[in-house]
Amino acid sequence: MPAASHHVVIIGGGITGLAAAFALTERASGRVPPITCTLIEADDRLGGKILTDRVGGFVIEGGPESFLSQKPWAMELCRQLGLSERLIGTNPERRHTFVLSRGRLRDLPEGLVMGLPTKLAPFLKSDLLSWAGKCRIAAELLLPRARQSVDESLASFFRRRLGDEAFERMIEPLLGGIYAGDAEQLSIEATFPRFREMEREHGSLVRSMLSTRSAPAAEDRRATPFMALQGGLGEMVERLSARLKTVNILTGRRVREFRLQADGLGYQVMLADGSALPADAVVITAPAYDAASLLASLHGPLADELRSIPYMSTATVSLGFRKRDVGHALNGYGFVVPRVEGRSLLASTWTSSKWSHRAPDDSVLLRVYLGGAHDKSVMDRTDSELAELMRSELRGILGIDREPLLVKVYRWPRSMPQYHVGHLQRLDRIEGLLQQTPGIYVAGAGYRGVGIPDCIHDGARAAERVLTHFDKTANPSV
Ligand SMILES: Cc1cc2nc3c(=O)[nH]c(=O)nc-3n(C[C@H](O)[C@H](O)[C@H](O)COP(=O)(O)OP(=O)(O)OC[C@H]3O[C@@H](n4cnc5c(N)ncnc54)[C@H](O)[C@@H]3O)c2cc1C
Repeated sequence: MPAASHHVVIIGGGITGLAAAFALTERASGRVPPITCTLIEADDRLGGKILTDRVGGFVIEGGPESFLSQKPWAMELCRQLGLSERLIGTNPERRHTFVLSRGRLRDLPEGLVMGLPTKLAPFLKSDLLSWAGKCRIAAELLLPRARQSVDESLASFFRRRLGDEAFERMIEPLLGGIYAGDAEQLSIEATFPRFREMEREHGSLVRSMLSTRSAPAAEDRRATPFMALQGGLGEMVERLSARLKTVNILTGRRVREFRLQADGLGYQVMLADGSALPADAVVITAPAYDAASLLASLHGPLADELRSIPYMSTATVSLGFRKRDVGHALNGYGFVVPRVEGRSLLASTWTSSKWSHRAPDDSVLLRVYLGGAHDKSVMDRTDSELAELMRSELRGILGIDREPLLVKVYRWPRSMPQYHVGHLQRLDRIEGLLQQTPGIYVAGAGYRGVGIPDCIHDGARAAERVLTHFDKTANPSV
């Protein structure tokens, strides 16, 4: 007899889980048998790493502040949620980024895309690199392609193509910083495969960049490379949860493990409070180490593979000041910090210069990002120690010595998955092992992209796979 309905349990109410639930309900409407969905989130609130606080006219992002527009999935989701009019691009008047280099802020040359020059004149004039470093980049035009196509680290790839100085002063802070990772270990194939393709297709990254001149335009003409929402990314979470009316959303409930149902066709989702839910399919969007704990009793080798994806801890400190108390012009989007500088921060965003709607007219908002592979002590410090450390960094770098109006510290333990060399092979093994637990899927930042668009895409992909699974079990010959 056909099932009366199919029940899908989604674990995790971060952007991946919410996007999976949204895609599932959109695509499943009108299906026979109908699909019901429960989303379970351990925390008391939805959003996971997306956390927007609105305090005294400040809009403060505790986690992500924006997303890439070139990867279409976040823009598309905003459109589907009716948020297109709320999207904001970066402020064109302050379009400038700095690098803290040899103790002071230096301009990142105009036309640099992901650390590579698309315009020659500003790059040659810049004092970020020595002449020897610039010549080494030019010499890249003459270097042969890699003979073998094996994966390598970001550091190995860029040192080989562009030299040590360009890697340490430009590439590492811009690219390694995104993962808060160790560029000596991060996989080029898993993090920035486009650069490998450029080497393969053009023989040279510089030739490829100079022929492109500018990044391909996003579909929406008003889009800047990074986009945000007027009231913060929390708007996306609020709108999603309001749209998921048919989904049974449980917050403050932690899933503990799964068991195979007696008929062997589905699973029992066991919660920490002792209750259980039957599920015909499960999408796990919790971080890979949590997914590993959930799956340990069901499939040990799968759990071992998931557990071996490393994660780094990070924190952000947001500081609001009266404009008149800040001597610095804050005429840019902020600065990044190369690891070789030996500082305790990875980057700083001058939030109210980069985005509108972030601070009252008479105030400014700054944010500092810290932790990651090169400062593992971040979780050992108290909030007030972190705030004091960052105030002293900003005093030294920007000369801001007045009392802030507002300080907010957000700690993100084991928050940034690290796609080390071999990550793609590990994903293949995980996919292979998941074949042995039909109806269970993993999705989220730990696997195919840490950015919000990738997470949305991965959540929607998992929803699609659930539907295919139901189609196949209903009709095995398909
Ligand atoms: C400080 C910081 C800044 C960032 N900046 C950017 C940025 O500017 N742009 C960008 O695109 N990306 C950025 N990222 C990355 C991006 O925010 C994340 O990769 C993304 O939000 C992860 O979404 P997710 O749904 O996969 O995971 P999460 O948001 O981690 O959600 C997973 C959820 O699962 C829940 N969970 C775990 N275990 C269980 C369980 N057993 N039972 C029930 N629930 C469980 C957790 O509580 C959590 O809510 C940033 C990340 C950090 C930490």
